Amino acid sequence: MNRPDTDVLVLGGGPAAAWAALAAAGAGARVVLADKGYCGTSGPTASGGNNLWYVPPDAEARARAVGERFEQGGRLADRRTMARVLDETYRRVDDLASFGYPFPVDEDGVERRASLQGPEYMKRMRRRVHRSGVTILDHHPALRLLVDDWGVAAGAAGIARQKGGETWTVRAGAVVLATGGCAFLSGAFGTNVDTGDGHLMAAELGAELSGMEFSSAYAFSPAHGSHTKGLMMQFATYYTEQGVPIDVPDPLGARVRVAERLAAGEKVYARLDKAPPRLHEAMRHAQPNYFLPLDKAGIDPFRDRYELRMVLEGTVRGTGGLRITGDDCATTVPGLYAAGDVATRELVSGAVSGGGAYNGAWAISSGTWAGRGAAGFAVGRARPHAVPAGRAGLRPGLLDAATVIRAVQDEMLPLDRNLFRTRDGLRGSLASLDALWERITSQGIAGTGRERLRARSAAAMTAHARWSYRAALARPESRGMHRLENLPQLPRYEHRRLVGGLDEPWTAVEPEEAPA
Ligand SMILES: Cc1cc2nc3c(=O)[nH]c(=O)nc-3n(C[C@H](O)[C@H](O)[C@H](O)COP(=O)(O)OP(=O)(O)OC[C@H]3O[C@@H](n4cnc5c(N)ncnc54)[C@H](O)[C@@H]3O)c2cc1C
Repeated sequence: MNRPDTDVLVLGGGPAAAWAALAAAGAGARVVLADKGYCGTSGPTASGGNNLWYVPPDAEARARAVGERFEQGGRLADRRTMARVLDETYRRVDDLASFGYPFPVDEDGVERRASLQGPEYMKRMRRRVHRSGVTILDHHPALRLLVDDWGVAAGAAGIARQKGGETWTVRAGAVVLATGGCAFLSGAFGTNVDTGDGHLMAAELGAELSGMEFSSAYAFSPAHGSHTKGLMMQFATYYTEQGVPIDVPDPLGARVRVAERLAAGEKVYARLDKAPPRLHEAMRHAQPNYFLPLDKAGIDPFRDRYELRMVLEGTVRGTGGLRITGDDCATTVPGLYAAGDVATRELVSGAVSGGGAYNGAWAISSGTWAGRGAAGFAVGRARPHAVPAGRAGLRPGLLDAATVIRAVQDEMLPLDRNLFRTRDGLRGSLASLDALWERITSQGIAGTGRERLRARSAAAMTAHARWSYRAALARPESRGMHRLENLPQLPRYEHRRLVGGLDEPWTAVEPEEAPA
């Protein structure tokens, strides 16, 4: 199925894609948006919601917010980009209010705009995108990018899931990748579509990645569910299986203390007993999906202890992703722009997870910048001859996709591999993952029609895992969420680390120093 040419093709259907599509259409481009799922319900924002890094335009408050986050993020972020994110997010949230988002109002009559309910948010975004004249292709995952004779990204090809896997092609003047991060099908809430497909497609055109060592984001979830809402945990007391409270220094330190016990095979429980009763209803209202599985199991989390597990969220809440080279979210491939979790978030969240506010703000602002940037690149540009790029997992072959996925998960999900990193552990995992990649490219993964998506996602997860561990071994110090046994934490600024390549992966130090 060949679709008509367009100016800008947006891949993805989460907040970054929706803001990119709106911005590109607003800049006068013809826009097609193709989502793996249904735009408006796919991905973790649509399933849950976002607290936002949202600071009204008070110069002092903003400077303080930037300064604090710069230090928390291991001094690896870029303060100018952080200030731009605050400004853009504030203005786009104004737009959201004009789209009819029902912000709650506090006792003083002021709208509370720093938290968004996912379904309400994304329903309005979809409607707005549709009304802006964007063509939305739901259940149309992209499998690979098109590239022209000059190496410019020139569209994509994929399959229509609801048409038995029929193939589609859209030629475009520029592409925005907004395909989310990679959570390795760990079961984290809403991340079933986040398998790192965009990273692989971009790398096949030679795109560079940055900050992939900071992808070891794990979050607490009730053992009865998969909802990893960290905000709940600020009200938690942690307990051993025998009901003895566990001493934790602070919420961030709690993660490490509890993770150590879980990694040692102990059971850990939580109770939200620090939540004042007047907040119980508000918490339930803000995050109903957190409480649903507990309610079903007859557990009242404010009164009863419930078992916890830690779920890997990878680059969905970690910070690594495609390297950004300009204010317009251009990648290192001409014509290819990246937004949201698929792009590196180091510029705003540094070496520490961007979850709980920075991610949502980054999706909004980077989406807007990428959409505008792509429109500026594409409108009026001639469409030269373009061909599909990429091959890993695309040629039907011998390997079973489920087996490949399990093999990647065996290296990425265990806490004692990915969170408590040792040099030997990382080297061992990398050797297995490199061997797996070699088999994927030489033997292929079985699957035709719709199954090609799973085969391709299995290849994407393998590539993602290899970049993460390769970058982790290349960083010479423990920094932020990357903690490697026996390596010191250095307070001073260290360069950002780049990684890339598929059959011949490489790492490098970013040539340019981050401004202090
Ligand atoms: C449980 C949970 C709670 C969170 N809470 C917060 C919070 O409070 N605050 C905060 O800032 N952040 C939070 N985050 C992180 C936040 O949800 C993400 O940063 C945000 O969703 C990123 O938006 P995105 O559009 O880049 O990606 P996503 O929302 O992941 O969307 C990716 C989109 O790409 C599509 N896609 C994937 N592959 C393809 C393909 N091959 N072709 C076409 N489309 C494709 C998917 O279908 C999906 O629509 C949370 C994450 C989780 C898991």
